[in-house]
Amino acid sequence: MTLRVRHARMIPLTYPSKPEYTMTNPRRPLRLNVGFLINQPIGVSREFLFDYPEIKAGEDTRLTNFSGSARISRTPQGLLVQAKFEASLTMECVRCLETYQQRLGWEFTELYAFSRRSVTESGLLVPEDAHIDLEPLTRDYALLEVPINPICKENCRGLCPVCGENMNQVDCGHRSGGADSPFAVLKSLTDE
Ligand SMILES: [Zn+2]
Ligand SMILES: [Zn+2]
Repeated sequence: MTLRVRHARMIPLTYPSKPEYTMTNPRRPLRLNVGFLINQPIGVSREFLFDYPEIKAGEDTRLTNFSGSARISRTPQGLLVQAKFEASLTMECVRCLETYQQRLGWEFTELYAFSRRSVTESGLLVPEDAHIDLEPLTRDYALLEVPINPICKENCRGLCPVCGENMNQVDCGHRSGGADSPFAVLKSLTDE
């Protein structure tokens, strides 16, 4: 027991062995205070973990079951963000027109520069208040992952071209009865 306590004392408190879930303002869940990193030596980094049932990304996008991490490292030019996230987005299936939850996963690496001299194409600077809000980047990168033809499931049967019923839910009988279907030919053969 005493051994354990002695061992625990040896762990430097300023460097947690495991990354911890990030405490942020619930209204701005991806806004991080990075002030403490700015005066650290080059190479020091910190990992932020996220896990939210729902976040708003921009005015029009709601991401649910949002989770992931962002490692922020002090470099000579600024703070480097290496982020990896996943979340679900409500989408409409192009075949059956039902809404469903599309799972998305995405990663990005971006530099928030200390000065205009070292700014990248993205034009990101470490803000005066030393808070980096990853929401705009998160939204942009997430939307890049949205499929062009979203499908609720691989074998979605879509809508019946004759009566418009959702063929995942009802068997309206139109498809197998078509005059040019292989089954129709078979039927005509067996009937004779
Ligand atoms: Zn569908
Ligand atoms: Zn039908």
